[in-house]
Amino acid sequence: MKFEERVELARYTTLGTGGPARAFGRPRSVDEVEALLRRAADEGLAVATVGLGSNLLVADEGVEALVLRLEGGLATAEPDGVLLRVGGGAANAVCLHRARASGLGGFEFACAIPGTIGGGVRMNAGAYGGDFSQVLDRALVASADGTGWLGPAELGLSYRTSNLLAGQVVVGAELRLHPRPPEEIKADVRALNARRKAAQPTNRRTFGSVFKNPEHELSAGRMLESCGLKGFRIGGALISPKHANFIENAGGARSEDAVALIVEARRRAHEQYGVELEHEVRLLGDLHVPALGA
Ligand SMILES: Cc1cc2nc3c(=O)[nH]c(=O)nc-3n(C[C@H](O)[C@H](O)[C@H](O)COP(=O)(O)OP(=O)(O)OC[C@H]3O[C@@H](n4cnc5c(N)ncnc54)[C@H](O)[C@@H]3O)c2cc1C
Repeated sequence: MKFEERVELARYTTLGTGGPARAFGRPRSVDEVEALLRRAADEGLAVATVGLGSNLLVADEGVEALVLRLEGGLATAEPDGVLLRVGGGAANAVCLHRARASGLGGFEFACAIPGTIGGGVRMNAGAYGGDFSQVLDRALVASADGTGWLGPAELGLSYRTSNLLAGQVVVGAELRLHPRPPEEIKADVRALNARRKAAQPTNRRTFGSVFKNPEHELSAGRMLESCGLKGFRIGGALISPKHANFIENAGGARSEDAVALIVEARRRAHEQYGVELEHEVRLLGDLHVPALGA
C-alpha cells in the first residue's frame, strides 16, 4: 500500500491544530492495515492511529511516524443478534444510529462522544455512567506482531485509559448490546444531548475534557473554575468560558498554546488544592507536559 506524504494532521483533529505526518495511510481492510504495519516495520517507522482526533493534540512541527486513519470497510457497523460488529474507524454516531435502527440499546452513553470505536476502546471513553468496558465483548487488534482478538481484561480498560500501545491498531470490535425499543433510545439520546449542550461548549473547536477528574470533592472543571481560569487565554487557545475543563481554539491556536494552558492549569490547581491533575488528552509527536515544579 502507498504512503501519502506530509498530510496535515490539523485536518484530522477536532481542535484543528497539528503539523504533517511523515507518512499517512488510509487502510480500508485488515489486510491493508497489516501491509502498512509491515512496511513501517521494514522502514523503522513508528506507527500511530487517528480516529476523529477528538482527544488528540498533535505537535505543530508534525509527527515522525506513519499515521493511520481507518476508512471504508474498517468504518462500518453491522448488527448480528445482540452484537454490533464494528470497524475500528467507525464513528460512534454511525454505530449508535445502526444500533437504534436495529432496536439495540446500551450504546446511548456514546451519543455525545464524537470519536470512533478505536479511539473509544483506546480511551475507554464514557459518559453518564456508561463506558466502552461495559459494552465491549472483544476488540480485533493489529500490530507488527500479528492480529488477534483481545477482551476487556487484556485491554486493561479503566478510567479513560487502556493498556494499548501506539503501534497497536484496533481494527474492529464486537459490542454486546440488548434489545430496546428505538423510541426509548431516541428519547434518552435527546435528553443526554440536551444535558450536554447546557453544560459544555458544543459549538466550539475543542478536544473534550482536558483533565481526568481527580480524587477530590471538586471535579477538574470546578477546580479550574475556582482557580479563576475560565476565559484564560494563551495564544489562540482559550480555557472555555462555559466549562473550565475544556480548551477552545479561539482562532489561530497551535497545539503548543494548548499545552501551555495545560501546564498553567496544572500549576494553579496544585498551588491552590495540592492536586496533580492528569491530562486525559493524548499527545502525539514532540509535545510534553513537564512534571510539576520542573
Ligand atoms: C466536544 C467533545 C466532547 C467529548 N466528550 C467526551 C465524553 O463525554 N467522554 C469521553 O470519554 N470522551 C469525550 N471526548 C473525547 C473523545 O471524543 C474520546 O476520547 C473519543 O473516544 C476519542 O476517539 P477518537 O476516535 O476521536 O480518537 P482520537 O482522538 O483520534 O485518538 C485518541 C487516542 O486513541 C488512539 N486511537 C484512535 N483510533 C485508534 C485505533 N483505531 N486503534 C488504536 N488506537 C486508536 C489515538 O492514537 C490516541 O491515542 C469528547 C471530545 C469532544 C471534542
